[in-house]
Amino acid sequence: MKKRIYIDMDNTLCDYSGKVNEIRKKSSTEVPYPQSRYGFFSSLEPLPGAIEAYKKLEEYFEVYILTAPSYKNPLCYTEKRVWVEKHLGLETTQNLIICKRKGLLKGDYLIDDYEYPEFEGHQIRIGQTPFNNWQNVLDFLLSDK
Ligand SMILES: [Mg+2]
Repeated sequence: MKKRIYIDMDNTLCDYSGKVNEIRKKSSTEVPYPQSRYGFFSSLEPLPGAIEAYKKLEEYFEVYILTAPSYKNPLCYTEKRVWVEKHLGLETTQNLIICKRKGLLKGDYLIDDYEYPEFEGHQIRIGQTPFNNWQNVLDFLLSDK
């Protein structure tokens, strides 16, 4: 049986922080919640290597996207779905799960920039040593498929 992997979106697949910084830089006034703007989530750029890594992992694992909603921005649900179709294709939208409590889901791995102590599988904290980038994550997981 294939192992199951959950992959986060913001700051894992998508460059959330990059967009926040870009909006703040362009604005002459304080922007307290850039992520609440319409169009924010659908316009995020993929992080380097993220799309390629997702496609590679799909070959060997059961892969789902597991993202928490930005609960003050109701359009984020639609925009995250739009992003997945745009960058990973229509089929992959069937593997999109939007859920704040990631620990409710059962699986072997959670790849995320944030820590979810409630998750019972193994957590891969992307952005932190030894998982500084997607290549590090791939090297580790492909040796454990
Ligand atoms: Mg995140």
